[in-house]
Amino acid sequence: MPELFIGGTWTAAADGGVREIRCPADGSLVATVDEAGPKDVAAAIAAARDAFDSGPWPTSPASERGALLLRVAALLERDKDAFARAESLDTGKRLVESEYDMDDIANCFRYFGNLTASGGSDRIVDTGDTGVDSRVVHEPVGVCALITPWNYPLLQTAWKVAPALGAGNTFVLKPSELTPHTAVMLMKLLAEAGLPDGVANLVLGAGPTAGAPLSEDPRVDMVSFTGGLVTGRRIMAAAAPTVKKVALELGGKNPNIVFADADFEAAVDYALMAIFLHSGQVCSAGARLLVQDELHGAFTGELVKRAREIPIGGPFDENARTGPLISAAHRDKVEAYVAAGLAEGAVLRCGGARPDDPALRDGFYYLPTVLDDCTPDMSVVRDESFGPVLTVERFRDEAEAVALANDTVYGLTGAVWTQDVARGQRVASRVRAGTVWINDFHPYVPQAEWGGMKQSGFGRELGPAGLAEYQEAKHIWRNLAPTPQRWFA
Ligand code: NAD
Repeated sequence: MPELFIGGTWTAAADGGVREIRCPADGSLVATVDEAGPKDVAAAIAAARDAFDSGPWPTSPASERGALLLRVAALLERDKDAFARAESLDTGKRLVESEYDMDDIANCFRYFGNLTASGGSDRIVDTGDTGVDSRVVHEPVGVCALITPWNYPLLQTAWKVAPALGAGNTFVLKPSELTPHTAVMLMKLLAEAGLPDGVANLVLGAGPTAGAPLSEDPRVDMVSFTGGLVTGRRIMAAAAPTVKKVALELGGKNPNIVFADADFEAAVDYALMAIFLHSGQVCSAGARLLVQDELHGAFTGELVKRAREIPIGGPFDENARTGPLISAAHRDKVEAYVAAGLAEGAVLRCGGARPDDPALRDGFYYLPTVLDDCTPDMSVVRDESFGPVLTVERFRDEAEAVALANDTVYGLTGAVWTQDVARGQRVASRVRAGTVWINDFHPYVPQAEWGGMKQSGFGRELGPAGLAEYQEAKHIWRNLAPTPQRWFA
């Protein structure tokens, strides 16, 4: 069955393009999928435009749109095992992590289903004039291009698809060319849930050919993008000539600040999880460990000991706790960052190599790596390597910790570990990031906004603002008894 979904029809690429999808855990062929070219992208945009301008979805009752999202949540739960397996084959991620993701994805649809059905934030404005009916209503933005990355393929997609549909938009989705399968499966569920043809469209393919035209086409009203900083800059520039609404969820180089009074056991445990979960391929990863001077020796000693013991393996290896990188090219990039860090004076405490286990030879694995004695000027500290690489810097006091934490172009997440409640609050309020955890790392909930400050992007996903992102506020003023004003009399 072909994999492009355009105007309610499954179709192959017009020019016959295909791509092989390979499992990062062993390089095996998962499947060959259709790869969209310019004609397919144009057709998908046309279908979404038509469904927005003439179809029933944008003006359907919010209660119906909410009900559809709730049906999708139930269908995702029904098909959870198949979705998790497909996600693990595409990403190499441990099956259990894909299963957690599927729970979060169903919850995301359920949250936006309920939020949409609750009627939204339209309001009557008190103008002080009884002869006027003034109200602010919220309408869909229009045709949305949704462009997503490979690290949490369906999760990042759900954060866009659910609110975009809840608000009444139509869309063209372009998932990462490396991990397309769960997006294909989601389109089938949306159709099964009763979404009208043309509202949801799917193009698979590479960024420059299938993604770039979406940011340029004048028929697209909004681009919501999650991915790397460089791509985000390109998309913003490409969207400028047609003044599209743009929402960008970009990278992070997130500080994990550990004060000497932190709960040692918990802080070490979470510091490992913060960076080595999914081999560091997490936008919110705690990639920069900032440790207070007096704790540095004991803390890094224990951390390195445990990092060396992390079991590595493929998605279906039940003993594994972390897996491969997404591709050979990505592993090359991570290796180059580590080499640059060492050349700039960082000290290798563990990792820094591929595993020598012959069973892992065909996958794109890289050992959990800790680089000590790092300084803010090093490229491995400044740039997002997006791999299992932790850099360690030291600080003397609170002021220096905050200064180091903020010494980055990014501002996605951060964490502070301390048993001093007031200090935790002070530091959390001074770290310039969209999410800050105190004595924790990585949790998020669909009810709370997610997004970046600085060059981690703008716009918010999840929470009420995640729905508002896909809406336009419109003021409608009705004069109940117009009489001539004689302005020019
Ligand atoms: P990427 O920027 O390489 O690609 C992301 C998507 O953009 C893919 O679908 C790709 O095909 C597409 N694309 C590439 N060039 C394009 C172009 N010129 N025009 C339009 N689309 C284009 O990112 P990636 O390597 O897939 O993902 C990793 C990045 O995503 C990391 O930087 C990570 O921090 C970021 N990320 C951020 C968040 C967040 O919430 N802020 C979440 C997950 C991932």
